[in-house]
Amino acid sequence: MLRIHYSLESELKGGIADIDAPQELSVQVRNLVLKTAKRKKVGHGEIIAEHPSQSGGAFHAAASGTVRDLDYHHLVITCDESGEAVDPADVASMAPGKELLRTLQGLGIDIAVLSSHAEMLVINGMNPEPGVSVAEQLLADEMKTLEAGLEMARTLIEPKQVVLAVADTKEYQLPGASMKAVKPKYPHSLDALVVKAVTGEEFPANTKVMNVMDLYALGKVVQTGKPITETVMTIDGHNYRVPIGTTIRHLLSCLDMKVSSGDTVVLGGSFRGEAVYSLDEGVRKGDYAMFVIPSDTFPRVEDVTCINCGECVLNCPARIQPNLISRYAEYEKFELAEEHGLHSCFECGLCAFSCTMRRPILQYIRFAKDQLRASGQGKQS
Ligand code: SF4
Ligand code: SF4
Repeated sequence: MLRIHYSLESELKGGIADIDAPQELSVQVRNLVLKTAKRKKVGHGEIIAEHPSQSGGAFHAAASGTVRDLDYHHLVITCDESGEAVDPADVASMAPGKELLRTLQGLGIDIAVLSSHAEMLVINGMNPEPGVSVAEQLLADEMKTLEAGLEMARTLIEPKQVVLAVADTKEYQLPGASMKAVKPKYPHSLDALVVKAVTGEEFPANTKVMNVMDLYALGKVVQTGKPITETVMTIDGHNYRVPIGTTIRHLLSCLDMKVSSGDTVVLGGSFRGEAVYSLDEGVRKGDYAMFVIPSDTFPRVEDVTCINCGECVLNCPARIQPNLISRYAEYEKFELAEEHGLHSCFECGLCAFSCTMRRPILQYIRFAKDQLRASGQGKQS
């Protein structure tokens, strides 16, 4: 068995830097409810799309400009320098309740975790994946904003206990939260495993979890009253504040990074991230990293036959059978995938990473979940 122990430790290199303002934004709008139209002018922070679920946060223009192009997948804004922006909302003085939740949702926050009470709130302060230092950077540099986010989360969730889970090599404190040290090895950073490390139970009742990136976004909204229009990303070991919709091409050019034919650009981490099809794809809300993987680093991932070697099963922390589930997904037998524990998968990506045949196991699993969700049978986000 290939034993995988990847470190989540990071060494911060300075503070969070800004990226040069992009001239164009490309926002992924597939399956969203559009709130603008082609050739329409938009102000900085104006709503351009809403999430179709009850709880998903809205999407906003990260700069003022004009909608140049719009299709089922993308909305492209040509930015201008008019500086037009929406007025801030006075979130901090609103009383807890439905109106506050709807306001937060309208400002881009996913309110699922905030919409009901729980006895325990776990703040996941672990770096999400190897090579990604966003969580630690926010804990080191943005404590006031995290505190503002926690105050709002406390107001809405009313937990009796708040616990911050951090790497056992670090000393970060979040006022009002006790600390739980966790070994900084992937996949210990995944919410389900962090909750287990804190409570000793798998899927305990009355417990909610938020990661520090989401807590930071909530804190920003509380502090400014303005919508989420940027994300913090680790790129090549440094952390940057990146407007949502900034194209990969612009990022690469700003950071003087080169991509050769056959290289893969990944948005997100190296285990859970997704390869982009085009350098004109835009950064999405919640993206926390970008990697360029040179063409000769790994064998290609391909739709080849599973040889039943069992490596993926041995590496699966959810103790399910990724080989079986991914085959059911491949042949569109989604109900069978569900019966064999599809929804116990927390998408760590270790199965795909360890697959002898380099099958796209995680992609099959996400495909099955998406299809079930679209048909109204899966778990809704
Ligand atoms: S991504 Fe793969 S290894 Fe990770 S929990 Fe899901 S099935 Fe298991
Ligand atoms: S999916 Fe890959 S790792 Fe899993 S049993 Fe098949 S070939 Fe082996």
